[in-house]
Amino acid sequence: MVKSSDFTNLELKLNNDKIVAIATSHGYAGIGIVRISGHGLKDILASLSGKNNLSPRIAHYCNIYNSDDEIIDTGVLIYFNSPHSFTGEDIIEIQGHGSPIVLNMIVKRCIELGCRMALPGEFSQRAYLNGKIDLVQAESINDLIHAESEASSKSALKSLQGTFSRHVNEINEQLINLRMFVEATLDFPEEDIEFIAQAKIRDKLTVLQENILQLLRNTKQGVILNNGANVAIIGRPNVGKSSLMNALANEDVAIVTEIAGTTRDIVKEKIIVNGIALNIIDTAGIRETTDTVEQIGIKRAIGAMQNAQLCLIILDSNIGLTTADEQILHNLPEGTPRLYVHNKIDLIGSTVKRENIEGYAHIYLSAKMRLGLDLLRDAILNSIGFDQSNHDVFIARTRHLESMKKAVNHINFAFDNWHNLEILAEELRYAHNCLGEITGEFSADDLLGEIFSKFCIGK
Ligand code: GDP
Repeated sequence: MVKSSDFTNLELKLNNDKIVAIATSHGYAGIGIVRISGHGLKDILASLSGKNNLSPRIAHYCNIYNSDDEIIDTGVLIYFNSPHSFTGEDIIEIQGHGSPIVLNMIVKRCIELGCRMALPGEFSQRAYLNGKIDLVQAESINDLIHAESEASSKSALKSLQGTFSRHVNEINEQLINLRMFVEATLDFPEEDIEFIAQAKIRDKLTVLQENILQLLRNTKQGVILNNGANVAIIGRPNVGKSSLMNALANEDVAIVTEIAGTTRDIVKEKIIVNGIALNIIDTAGIRETTDTVEQIGIKRAIGAMQNAQLCLIILDSNIGLTTADEQILHNLPEGTPRLYVHNKIDLIGSTVKRENIEGYAHIYLSAKMRLGLDLLRDAILNSIGFDQSNHDVFIARTRHLESMKKAVNHINFAFDNWHNLEILAEELRYAHNCLGEITGEFSADDLLGEIFSKFCIGK
C-alpha cells in the first residue's frame, strides 16, 4: 500500500518509470478507468489489446487480455502519444467495467508488463514537471474534485484553465519589465538619465501596486470559496442559536429544547450560503454556571469566538438586552468582526429589517418562522468580505494568499524607497520570487512533495 509519506521522500524529478492506477473512485460502477503513463507504451498497448498499431487519440473498442491470452474485460481503449497527453508522456486509458476485481486484474496485468503503481498525484506531478500545467493548475485539479458547491467548482475550473496563473504572470511581466529598467538605470548612472528614469519608475510602480492589490483582493475571494469561513453563533441559552443554525442549514443538526443549557458542546455544521461554505460553530450557551461540563463548553465558546472570521451575536427581541447578554458582549475579544441578530421578532409583531448601528449590522428576524434568513445570508457574506457581484472569481489557496501578501509587502516597500535604486531592485526581485512560488516557477521540492501527496492515487 502506498502511503502519502512515500511521496515526500521521492525525489521530485522525472523518472522513466511507467506508472499505472485506477483513476475512478473505489467501488462498483458502470465503468471504471485504468490509466497508464510513461514513455514507450506501444508494447504494453499491443499486449493489452492484442492489436498492433492502434491509432492515437481514437476510441477503440477492444478486449483486454491477461498473460494467458484470456480476456479479462472488454471496453474502450484510448492511446495518447507523447507529448499530446495530460502528462506529456504516452498515456493509455482503459475504460473497462467498474468492478474492483476486473480493474485490479487490469492493473495486475499492467504491472506484469513493466508498470508500477502510481503514487498519489503522480500523474498531475508529471504534467507539472513536463510543463503541461503550472502549480496553480495542478492544485486546482484537486480543488475541482473536492469542490463543495457549484460556485467553487466553477472557480476551480477557472484556475485549472489558467485564469489565476495568467493574472500572476501578467504582474510578473510588469515586474520583470520594471526590474530590467531599474537595473539598466543602475548600470548607467548618468545624472540626467537617472532623473527622467526615476519619474518613469515611479509611474510604473504605481500601476504595479494597483494591479497587485487587485489580484490580492481576488485571491482572498478565491480562498474563501475554497476554504469557506468560520462563523461562530454566540448568545445566552434559549435565545434561539440552535434554531437559527437549523434554519440556515435547513435540517435538524442541533437539539432544540426549552431547557436552558442543552447545547453543551460546539456543533460544527457546514452550510452552503450562496455558493460559499460556512463552517457554523454553535457554541455552548454562555452563562455563569457551576456545572463543570458546561464550563468546558463555555471555554470552548470563547476560543471559537477568537478564531472565527465572524461572530453572530444572537439576542432575544422579546426579552431585550439582559445582563447575561452584556456579559457575553464583554467577553467578546475587541475587534472581532460581528453581526447582531435580533431573533424572535414574531413574538413582538415586528418586521424583518436591517439596521446599521455604530458600524455594525443588526438583523431582525425569526428563526422559528424562517423570516429574514436571506437578509442574514447576505449580511454574513458581506461581513466575511465576499463580494457576491464579482462573478470572475478563480479558486485559490491559503498558500497563494501568503505568497501574494509577501509580494505586496515587497512592492509597498519598493514604493516607499523608489528613489533608492539598489533597494528598489532588491525588493522587486523578492516580489518576483514570491509570485514565482505561486505558479511553481520557484518552489522548493518539499513544498511540491506536500502539494502532490494530498492528491488521490490515479490523479
Ligand atoms: P439556544 O439555546 O439558544 O440554542 O435556543 P434554541 O434554538 O434551543 O431555542 C430555544 C427556544 O426558543 C425553543 O423553544 C425555540 O423553539 C424557541 N425559538 C427559537 N427561535 C424562535 C423564534 O424565532 N420565535 C419564537 N417564537 N421562538 C423561537
